[in-house]
Amino acid sequence: MNKPHEPNSWEARAMANVMAGFTDFPTLHERGPMILTHGKGVRLYDTAGRDYLDANSGLWNVVCGWDHEGLIEAMVAQTRRFPAYHAFFGRMADTSVELSEKLIEVSPFATGRVFFTNSGSEANDTMVKMLWMMNRAEGKPERRKIITRINSYHGVTAVSASMTGKPYNEHFGLPLPGFLHADCPHYWRFGEEGESEAEFTARMARNLEELIEREGPETIAGFFAEPVMGAGGVIPPSKGYFEAIQPVLKRHGIPFISDEVICGFGRTGAVWGAETYGIEPDAIIASKALTCGFMPLGAVILGDAFAERMQAAAEKIEEFPHGFTSSGHPVACAVGLKAIEIILEEGLLANVRMISPYFMKRLNALADHPLGGEARGIGLMGALEVVAEKATKTPFDGALSVSERIANACLDQGLICRPLGQAVVLCPPFIMDETLLDEMFDKLETALDKVAEGLK
Ligand code: PLP
Repeated sequence: MNKPHEPNSWEARAMANVMAGFTDFPTLHERGPMILTHGKGVRLYDTAGRDYLDANSGLWNVVCGWDHEGLIEAMVAQTRRFPAYHAFFGRMADTSVELSEKLIEVSPFATGRVFFTNSGSEANDTMVKMLWMMNRAEGKPERRKIITRINSYHGVTAVSASMTGKPYNEHFGLPLPGFLHADCPHYWRFGEEGESEAEFTARMARNLEELIEREGPETIAGFFAEPVMGAGGVIPPSKGYFEAIQPVLKRHGIPFISDEVICGFGRTGAVWGAETYGIEPDAIIASKALTCGFMPLGAVILGDAFAERMQAAAEKIEEFPHGFTSSGHPVACAVGLKAIEIILEEGLLANVRMISPYFMKRLNALADHPLGGEARGIGLMGALEVVAEKATKTPFDGALSVSERIANACLDQGLICRPLGQAVVLCPPFIMDETLLDEMFDKLETALDKVAEGLK
């Protein structure tokens, strides 16, 4: 039933005027929109006066809490000094130079180059255009195809949505031609009867190689992967996956671009997900925690070889004809510099490492809940996938919307977590402690019990 709203209330105004994106409309109609007014620490407050523990860090990005004074001060100071600029015509804000330097310093690369965007989608889009431009400049215009994986998420622009391996992009007539999707390395879900994890991983690598050979290695521009699939439902790779696929890519001269929009800056317990999984990327895509979410900012960080090749391609046509009005925005860059300092030097990453074992202990225990199928995660990102029948891993009928019901029951407890497919995702801020983790998991357990009861 549609929830009635008082005329002129925030909810009524939102329902009348806002085109909601990535929103489940039956849930929106049933519960109404949640209009938030402010946040403090790990909590958010809405117009109805309710408060919520935000187990999603905004959208994986607000890792330092909602009221971090250091970030606010950095933003205000920069706004006073130089509130806006672009990065065209060889002009740029000093802060954008400083942040480029810092990003290379904290990257796995000895040298490199950075290009700023406003979002992760634009950063992936930019990287694809760079690959296309480098290959054309080097006389290999046929090297255009992009490989990503089923269930991956790389963004929403026409190119980054084509990279994203989710069925909903069919509604836009995507993917564009030349965007290929390899297997999702989720052993628990896609491992075959009697297949060991090592055999599964070997099959992933074999299938990737077959895809490359079928398409023609000389037509493939790059392979993009999230170290841990985030919006796919927090899917860490099967054991040995990246060790197995990197030689395949190397053999065929295909660069590896690590999409670190979620994993970057500590989410997996290391600065980069690439570090956690022994990935040797040619470039890194960053955003989200790069500014702790306080300003929109994305970055393409080119490693040594790409930086040289990209510079040469641009020199050849005397330009890199690409950029956004707010590329290298000085306030976003100032916030980025401060965010990196807070995460890497002021103990946030250290805190992730410290509390991750407790997070994982409580997460893993959820697998024993009657609804629990697989509990999976790493660092401070986790998911519980629910099943109708444990032994056979049978998913619930999609029409039952079980993960949405759990997320809604969590909201009723004052906890924000996210339903993704048949999973409920947790990616709390890096400032959590064991008491807050207990509150989060206790609320989730209560919600799981209520939903399980309702399904009987
Ligand atoms: N890449 C990954 C791995 C992401 O998770 C996201 C967003 O969640 C994006 C790219 C797109 O970033 P944005 O939403 O800033 O465009």
